[in-house]
Amino acid sequence: MSFTDSHAHLTYLTLDNHNNQPQALLDAMSHAGVGRVMAIMCQLSENQAIREWVDLASQNQSMPDIGMSVGIHPCQDEAVLAAVCVDDLLALDGDKVWAFGETGLDYYWDENKSKAQKHSFATHIAASKIAKKPIVVHTRNAYQDTLDVLKSENCEHGIIHCFTEDYAFARQALDGGLYISLSGIISFNKSQDLREVVAKLPLDRLLIETDSPYLAPVPKRGKQNEPTFVPYVAQVLAKIFDKTPEEIGQITSDNFIRLVNQYKNII
Ligand SMILES: [Zn+2]
Repeated sequence: MSFTDSHAHLTYLTLDNHNNQPQALLDAMSHAGVGRVMAIMCQLSENQAIREWVDLASQNQSMPDIGMSVGIHPCQDEAVLAAVCVDDLLALDGDKVWAFGETGLDYYWDENKSKAQKHSFATHIAASKIAKKPIVVHTRNAYQDTLDVLKSENCEHGIIHCFTEDYAFARQALDGGLYISLSGIISFNKSQDLREVVAKLPLDRLLIETDSPYLAPVPKRGKQNEPTFVPYVAQVLAKIFDKTPEEIGQITSDNFIRLVNQYKNII
């Protein structure tokens, strides 16, 4: 099993295609060669539902290894973002927690929340440092502020998820110690500029993700995305870097493990 989906919202999936059986989706992941998935949290109330996925997958060696993140998405309510403290996040830390997030800044939907978003982002960074685990960063229409917070909070351990920014942004994130995760967006026709940026990035700092249930890659566009589709993201990277999809799967899996285990053995 060689592919790692570094970012999937498992609790948002409908399982219609899998007889409404979580087990059937796990089997489909194994069949597709997806050996590891990080289930991403957007609000703390998802904790229980995500842990059910983690627990189910841990029952059998042949199933993918599912870990999780703990965090509050920047598009959550302003009052929730403004109120979060380090202890709220650390209270949900545990063995199968691989990261904190998704956090970050999103001015596309609501620029007025920037103050609360920055507070939440900085709080996630502080928690991630105490736990010695990476953060998962979402950024949209917040290019400079995202880089500024990462720098001012001395964040050197994390993932820029669903990367769509330019080379200068990637360079600063990489120089700051972060990894870059690519989603199905790199498979879209309109993403030629993004593919050209990705070609300049170091392969040993890249990850792949689905961002399920959103952003299904070509040739699954329009469908609900799910972790079984992450090999399609690997296929695009394989073309860019002149490797096989399996090689990309192995390299990005190795990168993911190295990132999560950077300060202590977690995976
Ligand atoms: Zn996400």
